[in-house]
Amino acid sequence: MKASDRRLQELKEVIPEVTPSEALERQREGAVLIDVREPDEVAAGSPTGAQRIVRGFLELRVEDAVPDKSTPLLVMCAGGVRSLFAAENVRQLGYQDVSSVVGGFNRWKQDELPVEIPPALSAEGRERYARHLLMPEVGEEGQLKLGRAKVLLIGAGGLGCPAAYYLAAAGVGTLGIVDDDVVDRSNLQRQILHTDDRVGRPKVESARQTLLGLNPSIDVKTFETRLTSENVEEIFDGWDIVLDGSDNFPTRYLVNDACVKLDIPNVHGSIYRFEGQVSVFWPGYPGRRGPCYRCLYPEPPPPELAPSCAEAGVLGVLPGVVGTLEAVEVIKLVLEIGDPLVGRLLHFDALQQRFSEFRLEPDPACRYCAEGSEFPGYVDYKLFCAGPALGAAGS
Ligand SMILES: [Zn+2]
Repeated sequence: MKASDRRLQELKEVIPEVTPSEALERQREGAVLIDVREPDEVAAGSPTGAQRIVRGFLELRVEDAVPDKSTPLLVMCAGGVRSLFAAENVRQLGYQDVSSVVGGFNRWKQDELPVEIPPALSAEGRERYARHLLMPEVGEEGQLKLGRAKVLLIGAGGLGCPAAYYLAAAGVGTLGIVDDDVVDRSNLQRQILHTDDRVGRPKVESARQTLLGLNPSIDVKTFETRLTSENVEEIFDGWDIVLDGSDNFPTRYLVNDACVKLDIPNVHGSIYRFEGQVSVFWPGYPGRRGPCYRCLYPEPPPPELAPSCAEAGVLGVLPGVVGTLEAVEVIKLVLEIGDPLVGRLLHFDALQQRFSEFRLEPDPACRYCAEGSEFPGYVDYKLFCAGPALGAAGS
């Protein structure tokens, strides 16, 4: 007897085997069926409702997928051999009731048991996102989540450009961009989606062209308009996350108010000269209650107190840092990993190369986000140049 045959014999003695029909019945009673075949095998079909954990990652991922070790597990491969070895490994992790499905998926299909085609990345997607797929915190499931995500960017300026660029690269499936401006040569010092030969063309069009050049598999929707109280809800409808890269107070307050009303996380960034700040305003965040923008600044300053735009200016690289931090927050929210900047404000000082963090408390009397408050309506503030008091300007 060959050594491999002997080993198989030993395994068969300790690992109970069940037929596909028995497996289906036990699955319906609460057992978890784990399909350990390779992604290309699974792509052609897999038992309905099965967990798909590729053999090579089984020990690493099964405890996250099935935390309760008393849950009965049914391990399946293509023919019923690999699953015996896999079942033995899983048993060693402490699962008490582990069986192998005899005949594997081939027999499952022959017996005409329920099969589904699981959502999967294309071969091109596998190659493009290879570095994401290596990390269990993202993996194929996370990458598919990113592909389903819809993120609306307010402004294709200093903050929106780097944020959109990285979100497109990361595979966020639908990006929306709101901007009514055209490309000006003075934008090119920092607004990296635009190019010199597109001066005078609408920013949303230029942004779309660059983003699709980087990643043709995503969808970019453009809104060549300025946000107003009239159009804000229509434009915000259906988006998962809003990334605020606006450079003016009227827009910033509209974004805040609409996000609070529609319960959309508002990933906020602002820059001024050598400084920037990032936060996530989302009073509805399930983990902890955070403030909205109005909890910090209930009303914009009167126009006559704001210094003129000419006094402001911004270091070209700075929005790259801040916009990229906003993109990081978006990805975390989509993947539901890490600790978002809800109730926290991250301040960046480029000259000192220093990050500082401030805790932000929700204002219990906030007219917009306090619990039980009735939405007071949108306000169209007069457009004026932003000043340092609120850390605005420069996008
Ligand atoms: Zn508030």
